[in-house]
Amino acid sequence: MARKGNLIVVSGPSGAGKGTICQEMFRQHCDLQYSISATTRAPRTGEVDGVNYLFVAKAQFETMIEQDDLLEWAEVYGNYYGTPRSYVMEMLASGKDVVLEIDTQGALQVKKKFPEGIFIYIVPPSLEELSKRIYNRGTDAPDVIERRLSCAKEELICASEYNYVVVNDQLDQAVDKVRAIIVAERCRVQRNLDVVDEVLHTSC
Ligand code: ADP
Ligand code: 5GP
Repeated sequence: MARKGNLIVVSGPSGAGKGTICQEMFRQHCDLQYSISATTRAPRTGEVDGVNYLFVAKAQFETMIEQDDLLEWAEVYGNYYGTPRSYVMEMLASGKDVVLEIDTQGALQVKKKFPEGIFIYIVPPSLEELSKRIYNRGTDAPDVIERRLSCAKEELICASEYNYVVVNDQLDQAVDKVRAIIVAERCRVQRNLDVVDEVLHTSC
């Protein structure tokens, strides 16, 4: 039977560095697929529709919910975000590993549907550093930043629902750790029973 891909979920408070870590990992390795989320948030300067997100109107997002087109969805910091189901299912069926960069509400929905998924939580080295990063990123208005920072503590508590925690202090080390988790998970016995079986059926 063909190997199914692994579903990898990456979460963490806004500004922790999820996007930066994923981008760097995708630059280094081409064996991962990125699930492009749909959102009703307005694009930031430099963001491209169909690359960073599928930017949709609220009515369109609600139609996607009604038609059950989303694997999970949530309202985050006042906007809707969701994972289009068909791309993820197609990639997994064809044996490719898919990365979902989503919030904790969405991650818990995915965990119910895919308990065998790999759930990774990215934390900043401190709340002070988180604040510095989100301000220095310069992509959000001060009120948006404050809203995001005020949610950070609550979100960090959700880390206990995940399988792994990676502290994003030095970027290169954090990227290596996330990569190491993905590679180790691929080697889990439960995911490779067919491989052992195949070896058993080879002749001496
Ligand atoms: P998230 O996707 O979690 O909201 P980003 O990836 O956008 O966070 O990172 C927030 C900001 O922090 C960006 O400006 C990014 O360049 C910076 N950043 C990310 N990782 C690090 C790191 N290890 N050290 C210093 N700055 C970082
Ligand atoms: P941002 O506006 O900074 O791009 O993202 C805000 C938050 O929404 C982040 O925590 C990010 O992980 C989350 N997010 C992005 N896409 C999705 C998605 O498809 N589903 C859910 N539930 N959250 C998402």
